[in-house]
Parts: sequence; structure tokens; C-alpha cells
Amino acid sequence: MSRKDRKIILIAQCLVNPYCRVHILGQNFGLSQQLVNYLMERKVGVIQYCCPETTAMGLMRNPQGRQQYDNIFFRNHCKELLKVPLLMVREFLKNKYRLVAFVGLENSPTCGVHWGKHKINKYRTESLHPVDDPQPNEPALRGIMVEILAEELSLDGVACPFLEFPALSAPDSEKRAQFWELLQRTIEPYRYDDAAAPAEDTTVDAADPAPKSEQR
Ligand code: SF4
Repeated sequence: MSRKDRKIILIAQCLVNPYCRVHILGQNFGLSQQLVNYLMERKVGVIQYCCPETTAMGLMRNPQGRQQYDNIFFRNHCKELLKVPLLMVREFLKNKYRLVAFVGLENSPTCGVHWGKHKINKYRTESLHPVDDPQPNEPALRGIMVEILAEELSLDGVACPFLEFPALSAPDSEKRAQFWELLQRTIEPYRYDDAAAPAEDTTVDAADPAPKSEQR
């Protein structure tokens, strides 16, 4: 791979504007700063889509599960929001840039890459809390926006790794360390001896349900 390769990355908006997140869940500006600095230092151009939840329900929304967002109106809304960012992606690809990855957000019913199974709350609707004992045969389930993004990229014949920003994981957690390593592998695969197959365990075809190693 050429060391002159020009790179872009597609990300969820709250990764650069943490205020978009559900207000009672808090914001992590430090982690966003770390991510943005990392990308800028490596000259990775950022394309973001507008936060689907904020543009549908505003900043004072409450936390909800994936079940509540899984409806035709919200899906249409996500599809509309993706139109311009995906035109941007297409234009960059046409001009020989490389789409290194999409980065979503851990445990988001909208922009999460591995939503999985969650607890049902007292109102008999899905909560934000994952079940304590996920079974290996349960579907990984992506957030609604990520599901639509995968479909749209697939229609364009574009495949790229889908990564998940570990905003909820502890700074010294394995998940955080894994994220940074995977990001580096996608951005600078030539640094790795196994560059011919840099991210077999994480690089997903946009049409696939989830990275093989993450399927549950
Ligand atoms: S994860 Fe997606 S929906 Fe949630 S705040 Fe971020 S951009 Fe908005």
C-alpha cells in the first residue's frame, strides 16, 4: 500500500460534538479530542453525518432502546441524513481517496455497531442496559443508522471496517486498547507484518451483519 494514500473516515456526529449525546448520559470531550487529534495527526479527513436522534427529537430526549427507534419514520430519517455524507464519500472515492473505516458509538441504539441483546424495563420496552449473560447465538444487531449505512454502502459496492468508539469502557479496558489497535490497522496497515490481511477479524463487508469475531 502506498504511503501516500489519502484517507477519509466516516463518523457519527457526537464523536466531534459530544453535546449531541443524550443529555443525562454525559459527554466525554477528552476522548473525542483524543480521537480527532489521532486522525488529524495522520491526515485522515473526517466526514460526519448529523446526529439522527438530535435531528429527530432534539437535545432534551431521554435514553431509549433500539426497539423504540426501529420504525419506518426513523429509518427514513436516517436515510435522508445519509444522502449528503454518502455523496461526499463517493466523491472522495472517485478521486482516489481511501475510506478507512466507519466509526460508530458503543451501546448506541442508533450508531452502535454491536447493539446485541438488552434488558426490558418496567414499561416492557427495551432499555439501554445490555443483558448480563449474552448468549453466543444471539444476533449482534447494529444500531438503526448503522444498519442503513451498511445497506447504502453495499448498494454503492463500498466495503470498509465498521468500528465502535468505546466511550463507555474504562480507559484501561481491553476494549479501548483493541479499538485503538484496530483503528491504527485500518489507517496504517503497512505498519503490520500481516498487512496483506490487516483486519480479517474486524473488517466487515458493509452487507455483513457484524465482524466475524464479534458475532454473538
Ligand atoms: S451515537 Fe449517533 S444518535 Fe447517538 S448521539 Fe451520537 S450521533 Fe447521535
